[in-house]
Amino acid sequence: MSRDQAEYRSAAPSLEYTLIRKRMRTMRMRVIPPDGEIRVSAPWTSPQWEIDQFVSSRRDWIASRRAMLVGMEPRLEHGPEAAALRAQLAEWLEILLPRWCAEFDVATPHISLRIMRTQWGSCRPTTRRITLNIELARRGYDMAEYVLVHELCHLFANGHGRDFYALMDYHLPDWRDRRRRLGPL
Ligand SMILES: [Zn+2]
Repeated sequence: MSRDQAEYRSAAPSLEYTLIRKRMRTMRMRVIPPDGEIRVSAPWTSPQWEIDQFVSSRRDWIASRRAMLVGMEPRLEHGPEAAALRAQLAEWLEILLPRWCAEFDVATPHISLRIMRTQWGSCRPTTRRITLNIELARRGYDMAEYVLVHELCHLFANGHGRDFYALMDYHLPDWRDRRRRLGPL
């Protein structure tokens, strides 16, 4: 533990939280997966009663965050489940790739399927390498198709500018709806 950080476990009535004292201006609170622990960061100068009040005033917010965590899939690790998801995605790509490479009139790019923590997919136009997150197999065929088309568009358009969205609109007119359904990773 560093000199400007200290931990304290509160016994506030009904809502237990972990307090981390830091050099900062305002209090912050997070609800941590997988079990919904409440973690509060607060400036050294905030009195204890103020922090307790801060936590209890956000009771509803905490409850909704915890409800969300219950519905969350556990973090995917390497192993049999990941292998099964990879196989599922590979099977879909046997249909999707020929169809979409014909649509874009491109030679099949190199595809890798990986566990990715921050992105659904990525594309390097210079090496024609597309990487897809195997989590997509949990989200369904439509979602895998949406991300594949997104990455194929990057073969023609860098970044997410007007030209990129024009391509998406042309090739996959319902892409906005799919993006909304896919949500963040
Ligand atoms: Zn993109």
